[in-house]
Amino acid sequence: MRIVVALGGNALLHRGERPDAAVQQANIERVATALAALVHEHEVVITHGNGPQIGLLAVESTADPALTGPYPLHLLGAQTEGMIGSLLACALHNALPGRRIAALVTHTLVRADDPAFARPTKFVGQMYSRKLAESLARRHRWHIAEDGTGWRRVVASPAPERIVETDTIQELLNSGSLVICAGGGGVPVTADGDTGALAGVEAVVDKDLTAALLAEDLKADFLLILTDVPCVYTGYGTPRQQPVLDVTPAELRRGHFADGSMGPKTEAAARFVEHTAGLAAIGALDAAYEIVHGRAGTLVRPDLVGG
Ligand code: ADP
Ligand code: MG
Repeated sequence: MRIVVALGGNALLHRGERPDAAVQQANIERVATALAALVHEHEVVITHGNGPQIGLLAVESTADPALTGPYPLHLLGAQTEGMIGSLLACALHNALPGRRIAALVTHTLVRADDPAFARPTKFVGQMYSRKLAESLARRHRWHIAEDGTGWRRVVASPAPERIVETDTIQELLNSGSLVICAGGGGVPVTADGDTGALAGVEAVVDKDLTAALLAEDLKADFLLILTDVPCVYTGYGTPRQQPVLDVTPAELRRGHFADGSMGPKTEAAARFVEHTAGLAAIGALDAAYEIVHGRAGTLVRPDLVGG
């Protein structure tokens, strides 16, 4: 099977963990172990999130006295693709000796008039108390929103329209490379209507939606979304919380899942299954192999004909 794996940024840097390089280095070993088991049996394409990492770089850039202003988010996104791509490539190189591995800085086309620019939903960076988040928001003109138990910065997250490097990714796959690409949803760019010239924009594309597009373009059989919870739940965080084990896109769309966290994952899984009749699943990183074999996670499968 050809599997597109979407790794959560939170699986690489856990909530509340100090964002030290050494912590990411240690976490990446776990990721490589989980993925290596899949790579032995399947053709795997890896994409990853960057919420915690791009938030960290943005805070550093904001605080740098040598700068007249922080770096734009598209350039910080490119930095995170390079950093996480390198961490993954080295860890996979060590776990899979002899494999060709390529980490590709990838760009994602978005529409300049996407309404998402006016309604920031994508969480970046660390969790703050409400009071601190509000004071940071005033000082740095951030938008903030509640993410579970704390408050975080949110940025615009326009819809991915096209992945610029799809043909290159396909060629790398055809030559037998294990490809890491479209990290952080890809560097968001717009294309000039007349010349096609690309220009970076102030946004972070949702990695789950980009992963669905990538999986569709590459004609993947399976979209595997790995995060830090065992599966999707209904009534999440309430006393009525129930695991969702097996679901169709139509059933998923009837549920209400949180913007900026589970919402994009269920949407990405539903879209991929609807568009391709392939399978998608959402679950925990450490259970990657079990999920693909139907023994863990939430499986999203096509509606029965006429159903
Ligand atoms: P990632 O970095 O993997 O994209 P996110 O924080 O975006 O991580 O999404 C995973 C988080 O979604 C979980 O840690 C969980 O707290 C949250 N979540 C929100 N709603 C749900 C739900 N209905 N079922 C499971 N998890 C949910
Ligand atoms: Mg996320």
